[in-house]
Amino acid sequence: MNKPVLIVGGGLSGLACAVSLQKAGKPFALFESSNRWGGRAGSDRKDGFILDRGFQVFLDAYPTAAEFLDLDALNLKPFCSGALVARSGRFQTVADPFRHPKHLRDTLKGPLSPADLLRLGRLTFRLKGMTREKALSVQDESALEFLKSRGFSHQAVESFWRPFLGGIFLEPDLATSSRMFHFVFSLFARGRATLPREGMQAIPDQIAGNLPIDALKLNTPVTELQAQGIRLASGPWIEGEHVVDARDPWTSPDEAPDACGTVCFYFACDHVPWTGPWLVLCPEQEHINTLTDLSQLHAQWAPPGKHLLSVSCLNTGVGEQEVLSDLSELFGDQARKWKPIARMEIPNALPAQPPGHLSAVSKTGFQANGIIRCGDFLETASIDGALLSGKRAAEALLHHHA
Ligand SMILES: Cc1cc2nc3c(=O)[nH]c(=O)nc-3n(C[C@H](O)[C@H](O)[C@H](O)COP(=O)(O)OP(=O)(O)OC[C@H]3O[C@@H](n4cnc5c(N)ncnc54)[C@H](O)[C@@H]3O)c2cc1C
Repeated sequence: MNKPVLIVGGGLSGLACAVSLQKAGKPFALFESSNRWGGRAGSDRKDGFILDRGFQVFLDAYPTAAEFLDLDALNLKPFCSGALVARSGRFQTVADPFRHPKHLRDTLKGPLSPADLLRLGRLTFRLKGMTREKALSVQDESALEFLKSRGFSHQAVESFWRPFLGGIFLEPDLATSSRMFHFVFSLFARGRATLPREGMQAIPDQIAGNLPIDALKLNTPVTELQAQGIRLASGPWIEGEHVVDARDPWTSPDEAPDACGTVCFYFACDHVPWTGPWLVLCPEQEHINTLTDLSQLHAQWAPPGKHLLSVSCLNTGVGEQEVLSDLSELFGDQARKWKPIARMEIPNALPAQPPGHLSAVSKTGFQANGIIRCGDFLETASIDGALLSGKRAAEALLHHHA
């Protein structure tokens, strides 16, 4: 019998590689060190709350994700398109006028000047039809340099772009490549930011659920990888036809990219002072970058009668008291009564993707040592990039045998 392909790492890239091999009829075995699938995309359940491992969203226009997921079965619900901006003690609106026409008047009175709104509208229109390949071929500069070159005012950058994009890139300097900006913003222009009804964990669980159970090994850390074999932490050496390394990039310190981190706090409360599943940007707060009431998106993420507030900070050292102090500035004394549910610090959330990192040419594939490498850090650092990288790893392997 043919030796299986050995895939190390059960995040989205490893899972996508497994699915692609399965479709081609290639035997494989997938080894994951932790007790669940999904790596950085996952959720916990606690006291009746669903808590994603850091605030993240699934863009329903992701081009590769649709190949791997039954989107209907995920019961995706969209956030409002745009954001509320918490400034000077009140919420101002930046809403997509086509999707939320009733918020047009509020948007015209919001933090963006008419000229900035026009720039935003033109940019959205231009990026709507942009393919991934085109986005990854635009002039490579930082996202901040790009926005400035488009003429956005200081106020538009500071009150809207910096917290909005900072929350996506998980870095406040907007030093991420404008290619990543074009990729992500074209998807916002075409589709919606959503979350599955059962939390992010539903995404890897759905993919793993379609794979043969005897090929899947949870709680199985691998300590050594070679081109045709791996050693399990429990001792045995396993031979394979090929080895795919789908571990996160920080497992190899020599090659590890700089990491962008975040800390996410969850609070339970009885009431929040806005209506609808809006992302709230907090440009004036010292610690909080964004927050959102997840129970207004999916009521079942909190026990009946409760709201689940997710609060994201970009400085990983931030503590609960600092966040509560920011919340009190925003919402008054009521915030002091909000019950902390969890604090999740994720220093290695995303690989940094500065100019020079991204191109339309894939970096996934065979390394000099004969091992095939995949992961989000080799494509666009996202759910979609991880899935694409796993698919490309399988393609490289199948091509090798063609
Ligand atoms: C807080 C946060 C917010 C994010 N926001 C978004 C967002 O809004 N939208 C979006 O698209 N993406 C977002 N992302 C990024 C997205 O989650 C990742 O790009 C994607 O999940 C990475 O998948 P991966 O397979 O490349 O790596 P990983 O998920 O890191 O998978 C690697 C796997 O390898 C396993 N492993 C490591 N060492 C070993 C070993 N020795 N033996 C066996 N297994 C091992 C790990 O346990 C892990 O399961 C966010 C990520 C985080 C953390």
